[in-house]
Amino acid sequence: MDMYSIMMQSPVAMCIFKGTDYTIAFANDFYLKILGKGKDIVGKPLFESFPELINQGIDTLIESVMASGLPYAINEHEAQLIENGQAEQHFFNCVYQPFREQNGDITGVIVVFTEVTELVIVKYANKVSEEKLSIALSIANIELAFQDDEKEKRAEELSIANKELVFQNNEKGKRAEELIIANIELAFQDDEKEKRAEELSIANIELAFQDDEKEKRAEELSVANKELVFQNKEKEKRAEELFIANKELVFQNKEKEKRAEELFIANKELVFQNKEKEKRAEELIIANKELAFQNKEKEKRAEELVIADIELAFQSKEKEKREIANKELQAAKTEAENATEIAKDAVKAKQQFLSNMSHEIRTPMNAIIGFTKVVLKTDLSVKQKEYLTAIKTSGDALIVLINDILDLAKVDAGKMTFEKTPFKLKLSIAAMLHLFETKIQEKNLKLIKIYDDNIPEVLVGDPVRLHQIILNLVSNAVKFTAGGHITVSVSLLSEDEEQATIEFSVTDTGIGISDDKMPKIFDNFQQASSDTSRLFGGTGLGLAIVKQLVEPQGGTITVKSTVGEGTTFSFTLSFQKTDAKAEMQVEIIELDEDIKSIKILVVEDIVLNQLLMKTLLDDFGFERDIAENGRIAIDMLTRKDAYGATKVYDIILMDLQMPEMNGFETTEYIRNTLKSKVPIIALTADVTTVDLAKCKAVGMNDYIAKPIDEHVLYNKIVSLVKKSVVKQSDKVPETEEKVRYTDMTYLKKLTKSNPKLMLEMIAAYLAQTPPLIQAMRQSLHEQDWQLLHSAVHKMIPSFIIMGMSVDYENMAKKIVEYARMSPKVGNISDYVFQLENVCERACDELEEELNTIKEMMNNK
Ligand code: ADP
Repeated sequence: MDMYSIMMQSPVAMCIFKGTDYTIAFANDFYLKILGKGKDIVGKPLFESFPELINQGIDTLIESVMASGLPYAINEHEAQLIENGQAEQHFFNCVYQPFREQNGDITGVIVVFTEVTELVIVKYANKVSEEKLSIALSIANIELAFQDDEKEKRAEELSIANKELVFQNNEKGKRAEELIIANIELAFQDDEKEKRAEELSIANIELAFQDDEKEKRAEELSVANKELVFQNKEKEKRAEELFIANKELVFQNKEKEKRAEELFIANKELVFQNKEKEKRAEELIIANKELAFQNKEKEKRAEELVIADIELAFQSKEKEKREIANKELQAAKTEAENATEIAKDAVKAKQQFLSNMSHEIRTPMNAIIGFTKVVLKTDLSVKQKEYLTAIKTSGDALIVLINDILDLAKVDAGKMTFEKTPFKLKLSIAAMLHLFETKIQEKNLKLIKIYDDNIPEVLVGDPVRLHQIILNLVSNAVKFTAGGHITVSVSLLSEDEEQATIEFSVTDTGIGISDDKMPKIFDNFQQASSDTSRLFGGTGLGLAIVKQLVEPQGGTITVKSTVGEGTTFSFTLSFQKTDAKAEMQVEIIELDEDIKSIKILVVEDIVLNQLLMKTLLDDFGFERDIAENGRIAIDMLTRKDAYGATKVYDIILMDLQMPEMNGFETTEYIRNTLKSKVPIIALTADVTTVDLAKCKAVGMNDYIAKPIDEHVLYNKIVSLVKKSVVKQSDKVPETEEKVRYTDMTYLKKLTKSNPKLMLEMIAAYLAQTPPLIQAMRQSLHEQDWQLLHSAVHKMIPSFIIMGMSVDYENMAKKIVEYARMSPKVGNISDYVFQLENVCERACDELEEELNTIKEMMNNK
């Protein structure tokens, strides 16, 4: 391989030029390619082929290199290379190096071109990227700076945002709280809404009902008002009657003291006969004793006779004597027996006489008193009223006297009977002493009552008789005392498991009784002094009756007295103790709805009595028919009307003594043949002669003594009719339960029987109601209708909850309605009082209910 070929093929472009004209001595292929020339340039001057290089200063450059002998380099020279018909940019590092001859002379220049295109590109690219980088960097920096600013801004914004956030969080917390409250409120409102809805539906029903009721009530109200006016008039009438009755009583007491003088003589006879009888009896006893003695004597004598015959003759004489004496004795005995028989007959005759007489007197008296009462009710002048009152008072006194005599007759005949009923002693005494208050005040006396509270409350005995005893003693004390005081004392003497013995004493500061009269005052018709009757009136029967009432009951009566200082009558009586409750002592029976119209059949033969009955019954407003005797009564009870129905009576008033068919026979027939249970009351003139047992035996329900007390008559009729109404109706239970005002059914339903809830609601009612009742009272008192309206209005919802009758609720609504119209008091006050009462009762009941629930809860 020769040098030339290497140089020709070298990838480094080479060319050599020599001489002064810089003839191209050598140029390899790469050189020609770079410079875009062919081989023809070799041997030609450089600048001939490349004239443009002179302009580029290359001629100077070559001269300097030749002159200095120092190479020169031009780096990264740019040249266009044509490749595949396309011009491409290339870069070359060019070195101009002097060409030295072997002797060292510089004869030319060698030029070498080394391609650095890629390096340049890389360098350029680097440069570009560096520039880019720096630009980018600066942009980045600017950006960074910007971003920093932004970041600060953001930081600020962030802090603001944070603050905002904190604020919002707080707000959120508040909202959350508000939300909870709102929710509670909402729940509450839901509840309330439900309640209102319920109330509204109830209220609507009520409203509809109320409208109906309003009309009804208006009608009822007008009727009630009329009734009220009528009742007021009736009340006035009763007050007048009461006034008259009081006057009568006062007069009657005075009259009673005068009443029995006429009978004094009759009784003296009786006393005499009694004494005679006693004498005969005594004589008889003595005669009998004598006989017994003589018989013994006879026996002795007979013994003696056996022993001594000598005395036989004497003895036979004695015997004769004895026989005569015996005969005499026998005669005396018979005589005494006859006398006793006569006395007994006399007593019997006396009783019969008294009984008959009293019966005979009582029948006309009954009419006299009855009609006097009737006339007294009519319009009379003051004088007429006075005279009639006097007639009636005298009549009443006469009846009392007759009763006294009958009492004595009864005692004598051993017919006095004593009741055994439970009663309250304290009440009984207080009621009795009450009768004397006016009289005692009139005489300016003082009544002192001493009652031993150790006495058992309820005792068993005869309160009517006790009443009679004390009444006699106290009326004597009042009568014989001009000044000072009367002390009635009741004390417990002794008590065991069965009995209580009680001492009653009546002490006065009156005229007293002298010692010599003392033993006699308890005898019939005995007065302490002969002028007593003239001065004080009286018959001397009172104390006799008192004694006869005390002693048969096992009691004793004593008297202590000092003339001019006063007298004490004391008596003791034993009563049985009991666990039973006392019978109602004062029975006031009101007529109620069930028995508004009572149909009565009066069976009575005496025309006057018929008339009297008619007047009384008409006065009560009862319907009545009259039958003259039992036969007619039966006829009336069985007679059929056009429809085949018999008239039904609610009760029959039956006289006992009647012609044709008497009261007993008639009653027997009604009970046994007619099989009727209609209540029958016997009307009897004489309780003592009538066999009350017989009344009961034939099936009578009760009796009334003539003269008829209209209150007794009214009460007995009403109570018997009421009883039979109750008996007939199956709906009414035997023992009626106490009326309840409240009912827990609704409340239980409402609370689902939750005891706590029930307790709360009841407690709420109990807290609310008493002030409302108070407000109602006050409102009525002050006529403050607005207060009344609001108080009652508040009450209304509780009626349904506490299960109170809808009637009361309606009543409350009526009050509210009235109060709204500012009413007249009279109309509304009755309702308010009723409602107050109802609510108070309800409170009592609910208090109990509350305690029961509490107990129940405690026990769980
Ligand atoms: P009357 O009072 O009707 O005369 P009584 O039998 O009640 O009959 O009384 C008989 C008599 O006893 C009376 O008349 C009177 O002389 C006397 N007497 C009764 N109670 C008293 C008394 N408290 N003070 C004085 N004397 C009395």
